[in-house]
Amino acid sequence: MTPISLFWHRRDLRTHDNRGLSAALSSGRPVVAFFCFDQTILNPLPKRDSRVGFIHSELSGLSLNYAEAGGQLVVRYGSPVEQLQVLYQDLQSAGFELKEIHTNRDYAPYPVERDQMVEEWCRSAGVGFTLWDDHVVLPPEAVLKDDGTPYTVFTPYSRKWHKVFSAREQDPLSEAVVELRGHCIAPLETVAMPTLESMGFDSQSANPDGWSAFENRKPEQGILENYEENRDTPSVIGTARMSLHLRFGTVSVRALARLGFAHSEKWLTELIWREFYQAILHHFPHSARDAFRAKYDRIPWRHDEEHFAAWCQGRTGYPLVDAGMRELNTTGFMHNRVRMVVASFFCKHLLLDWRLGERYFAAKLLDFELASNVGGWQWASGSGCDAAPYFRVFNPESQLKKFDPSGAYVRRWVPEWGSPDYPSPIVEHKFARQRAIDTYKAALSEA
Ligand SMILES: Cc1cc2nc3c(=O)[nH]c(=O)nc-3n(C[C@H](O)[C@H](O)[C@H](O)COP(=O)(O)OP(=O)(O)OC[C@H]3O[C@@H](n4cnc5c(N)ncnc54)[C@H](O)[C@@H]3O)c2cc1C
Repeated sequence: MTPISLFWHRRDLRTHDNRGLSAALSSGRPVVAFFCFDQTILNPLPKRDSRVGFIHSELSGLSLNYAEAGGQLVVRYGSPVEQLQVLYQDLQSAGFELKEIHTNRDYAPYPVERDQMVEEWCRSAGVGFTLWDDHVVLPPEAVLKDDGTPYTVFTPYSRKWHKVFSAREQDPLSEAVVELRGHCIAPLETVAMPTLESMGFDSQSANPDGWSAFENRKPEQGILENYEENRDTPSVIGTARMSLHLRFGTVSVRALARLGFAHSEKWLTELIWREFYQAILHHFPHSARDAFRAKYDRIPWRHDEEHFAAWCQGRTGYPLVDAGMRELNTTGFMHNRVRMVVASFFCKHLLLDWRLGERYFAAKLLDFELASNVGGWQWASGSGCDAAPYFRVFNPESQLKKFDPSGAYVRRWVPEWGSPDYPSPIVEHKFARQRAIDTYKAALSEA
């Protein structure tokens, strides 16, 4: 039997600057690569889902990279632990002994649970299982308060992030060099990747128009240099549009952070916000479903299907809210400033449960990432770790005047704005603001 190592791709769909892959290739054993379309994640998704199409298309490219270097990417569909067991047997039948699995850590609750199951099986099968930190610059347990507890407020977290970063002996941004050629192996007969249709998805999921908002894989220097000035203007492309690539690891966060250090401290701070939310979800997994601050779960959210539907469709009569929701429904992207406005409107003006809004975003956003999404929604609802105070209620009209003064963004998405076809506001701002403040106040002051 020839001893081999396996590298398991998950949310790191690249063969450059990849920590776990680099480590597997240095194991001294030939490496086979693996990806599993995970049924647990795919089952609840709609039949047409551009994110699944994106992953599928990226895997075709990866597969080619491996094949060109004499290696192989084995792609399976099902439960990862079961598929790894099947692969283990397939490798044995072909005369290869799987000695070790290397993979990059994912800090969210489900992946942690999944990895524990895989690790248990590995132990029983005598296979090594090593997790690497790759999709953040500093993993959750590296940035803690001096007493060893997690931060729950961003500013001190960020200060400590910089301190830990500077104190590291090895440069945390150093490239994880990947040399496939001569280190990979193609141990099995080539089998075509599962098709989208065979996994229950519409082939249109792989239509590149679906992810055209994320064409670039490297932020333009000009965008970073002018980031501070343009980042809050939704009518221009003033942000880097890297979130989809960070989500699926089609770019390296270290390469992006290097650009942040070089060109925009403000932009680097946004990458640190991402790491902060990853750490929050990791240390407080309950926050994916419950209010981070428990007393916010006392708020008596309204049930109003009509208002919920109007918000989803972008027909609330508030132009900035409607433009944002229509941008989301059409492109799978929404500008950050507008995400804040629509989420605040949902929780405060409509008094709807933030979890419903979070789930709607989760279904629609191409860059959906549980940690950042929950973080953003709990920030807007006031229930999060470092959230806006409940009595600060965004006025969607003032936000429009401030951030889209020419109306260019709104007109792009709401062409009937200003005509009789445009709906009147579904709630009156002053009334809704006061209702939110009174409801929050009463709920939070209960003993
Ligand atoms: C209600 C709400 C929901 C959100 N849901 C998500 C989500 O599901 N997935 C997601 O990636 N981001 C989410 N965000 C954060 C932010 O809106 C997006 O990351 C950003 O709009 C992506 O565009 P960009 O790549 O051009 O960002 P840029 O402004 O260029 O920022 C660079 C990167 O920094 C990170 N980043 C920026 N802002 C934030 C932030 N506020 N919190 C965490 N990370 C940030 C992202 O990884 C982003 O790609 C949400 C924000 C809000 C208010």
